[in-house]
Amino acid sequence: MSGTVYLVGAGPGDPELLTRKAARLLAQCDVVLFDSLVSEEVLALVSPCALRVDVGKRAGKKLLTQDEINGLLVDYAQRYAVVVRLKGGDPLLFGHAGEEMDALRAAGVTFEIVPGITAAFGAAAGAGLTLTDRRVASQVLFTTFSRGETGNWLNWAAVTPETTIAVYMPGTNYGEVSARLVENGLAPETPCVVVSHATRAAQQLRWTSLAALGAESRLPAPAILIVGQVARRAGQELHAGITSEIFSAQAPLIAPLRKGDTLQ
Ligand code: SAH
Repeated sequence: MSGTVYLVGAGPGDPELLTRKAARLLAQCDVVLFDSLVSEEVLALVSPCALRVDVGKRAGKKLLTQDEINGLLVDYAQRYAVVVRLKGGDPLLFGHAGEEMDALRAAGVTFEIVPGITAAFGAAAGAGLTLTDRRVASQVLFTTFSRGETGNWLNWAAVTPETTIAVYMPGTNYGEVSARLVENGLAPETPCVVVSHATRAAQQLRWTSLAALGAESRLPAPAILIVGQVARRAGQELHAGITSEIFSAQAPLIAPLRKGDTLQ
C-alpha cells in the first residue's frame, strides 16, 4: 500500500482560518504529524480515529530530528492511505518543507501541498494594517534571523524605507533584532509592531519603534515582528481602543473608518 502525504497549513491558530481542504483532510486522515505551533482548536478537528504524532518541540527542545521526521513520513505513507503533515501557518514558509519534499520524492511517495495562512498575514489582520499600503510600502520581505547564520546572506541593498519586513521567530532578545536592523541601514525611528498569538484569543500587540523595541518586555511565543512604515503608531490612534495591548479575539478588530480619518 502506498498512501499520499499532504503537507497542510494549519494557519496561525484560529480554526476558522483553515482552508476547507485542510479541514476535510484533518477529518479524514489516518495519521497526523503535527508541530508545536499548531493550536489546540485546530487539533480538535483531527479525526478521533487518526493516529496523532507530535513531532514538535518541548521547552525549546526538538522531540525529533528533521531526518527522523522525514523517515516517519515515508514510513507512514507505506502503511496508511492519508498522511497529514500539519504545520503552523503556511507549510512552505520557514517550515522545513523542502527537506520533507526531497525525502518524499526520493522515496517515490506521492505528496500534495495544502497552503495555509501564514503568520504575517494573521498578524497584519490582527493589527489592522496592510503589509503593502501603497502610500508607504512597495515590497514585503519575509525573513528570520534565527537560522544560526550571521544574516549577511540577506541582500540589505534590497531593503528600502518602503519595505515591510516580517521577522519570523524574532526570539527572546528584541534588542538584538532591532540592533541588527538598524546596523543594516533601517532608521531607528522605523515603526514596528510585535504580534503575539495572532488570530487567537490570547492575541497581543505591542506597537513601538526599532529604537524602543529593545526595551520592550517580551510577548509570549509565537510572536512575529512587522517592521516598516505600515506599522506606524498613528495606526494605533486611528484604531484607538481596539489595538490596546490585550484584546479578545471576539472584539471587533478594526474600527470602521470615519470620514476624514487617515492612516498617517
Ligand atoms: N510556517 C509558519 C512559520 C513557522 S516559523 C507560517 O507560515 O506562519 C515559526 C514562527 O512563525 C514563530 O516563531 C512566529 O514568529 C511565527 N508564528 C507562527 N504562528 C504565529 C502566530 N499565531 N502569531 C504570531 N506569530 C506566529
